[in-house]
Amino acid sequence: MSPGCTRGFLEREYRRSLEGVTTPDCTRTSCTGCGICPTLHVKNVLMGDRA
Ligand code: SF4
Repeated sequence: MSPGCTRGFLEREYRRSLEGVTTPDCTRTSCTGCGICPTLHVKNVLMGDRA
């Protein structure tokens, strides 16, 4: 079973983690290309305001 994100995204995240670089939260900024939304045919939906 696939978690929905792409292998390329996970590899990029791994390299970024080694450099200590974080990835912005896509629910607060823009899509960072993990691939889940297009793979699962879904969209981010926020359930109310967050702090
Ligand atoms: S918007 Fe969807 S595809 Fe983009 S990073 Fe967020 S969860 Fe992944």
